Amino acid sequence: MRKFDFLVVGSGLFGATFSYIMNQRGYSTLIVEKRDHIGGNIYTEKRDGINIHRYGAHIFHTSSDKAWDFIREFAVFSPFINSPIANYKGEIYNLPFNMNTFSKMWGILRPEEAKRIIEEQRKEVTPPIDNLEKQAISLVGRDIYEKLIKGYTEKQWGRDLKSLPPEIIKRLPVRFTYDNNYFNDTYQGIPLGGYTKIIEKMIEKSSLELSTDYIENKSELDKMADRVLYTGELDRLFGYSLGRLEFRSVRFEDEKYETDNYQGVAVMNYTDRETPYTRSIEHRHFEKTDSKVTWVSREYSVDYSFTGEPYYPINDEKNNSLQERYVELAKNDKRLILGGRLATYKYYDMDKTILESIKTADSLS
Ligand code: FAD
Ligand code: UDP
Repeated sequence: MRKFDFLVVGSGLFGATFSYIMNQRGYSTLIVEKRDHIGGNIYTEKRDGINIHRYGAHIFHTSSDKAWDFIREFAVFSPFINSPIANYKGEIYNLPFNMNTFSKMWGILRPEEAKRIIEEQRKEVTPPIDNLEKQAISLVGRDIYEKLIKGYTEKQWGRDLKSLPPEIIKRLPVRFTYDNNYFNDTYQGIPLGGYTKIIEKMIEKSSLELSTDYIENKSELDKMADRVLYTGELDRLFGYSLGRLEFRSVRFEDEKYETDNYQGVAVMNYTDRETPYTRSIEHRHFEKTDSKVTWVSREYSVDYSFTGEPYYPINDEKNNSLQERYVELAKNDKRLILGGRLATYKYYDMDKTILESIKTADSLS
């Protein structure tokens, strides 16, 4: 009994983008989502008039005209420049690493002076630059490494920096200008009304079943459609037969305060080792919501086994090669299509998720 052209497993940004495009092209889709709500990790919910980013702060940023034009079909974006503050034992620094950071750290004024200090400090690093510690010191020197990188990264990944891949830190800009914009991208913003509304619009024409786990209902669900787009974890799909892929997870503690401005910024990073959380997010700053109260979420980085919710793939050699072996297994099932951050085990931002989903849809229609 085939009713749908595609069964889409997961209502996150990848699955929703795919459904939207396929529905536009005349194909039918059934989305199954194991959570009790749509949207995956970009889900937002309203509390006291404020859109809460329930699975962590999400700022849309891209240099792709295609991704930017696509997402703006579904929402009006309010201009927003992410300028997080680093808090090291109460000392405040600007992020990303720029002249404001260097000036506060070393009492200097000019780019030349900052470059000279970093040049001197990076001499301790010996090639090859094959771990995160070496990469970080070689980018910004030992002082910044100690105060703004080491503690944060240890908390974030639960590992020593010497055992982490250098690529993780390359996401962050290092600038010799007084510019606190966390991203280098051409476009940046926050959707007015939250991300959930975007997903609602994308899947308007699709059928949806919430609180339905594909793995637990696989044989019945497979009968419902010709092809299956799977956006969950690949090891789970194959019953962990080759071993477990590692993910880092996050636990949030939310608190309401009777003030209209608790921390003065949307994102504060706690970069010392002693503070148990990595970031605190004050949601009202994203859309500049007018409200007498405020909601703050503290983000605790935890082991995957603690929450059962996978957030960040740990892209070291061991995990990447296990992922590849699962991808080979998946090739045996010609009905199966893989996509998204979990199934492809890649650290995708939202724009990349959209672009990959469009590419997948184009390859099939
Ligand atoms: P997901 O959002 O994870 O969606 C997958 C969905 O599949 C989930 O809803 C899950 O419940 C469902 N599912 C899984 N298995 C099954 C199953 N067996 N049956 C049914 N349903 C299933 N990107 C940015 O561009 N800017 C940011 O500021 C930003 N901040 C981030 C902060 C954090 C803390 C995290 C974790 C990510 C951030 N991202 C950011 C990345 C962004 O979240 C992803 O690009 C995007 O959410 C990926 O969408 P997805 O559909 O691939 O995955
Ligand atoms: N990072 C850091 N200090 C900070 C912010 C980031 O050392 O204050 C490092 C950390 O290792 C992190 C990486 O830079 O994993 C990438 O940071 P980003 O903010 O891009 O991470 P995400 O928002 O994806 O969690």
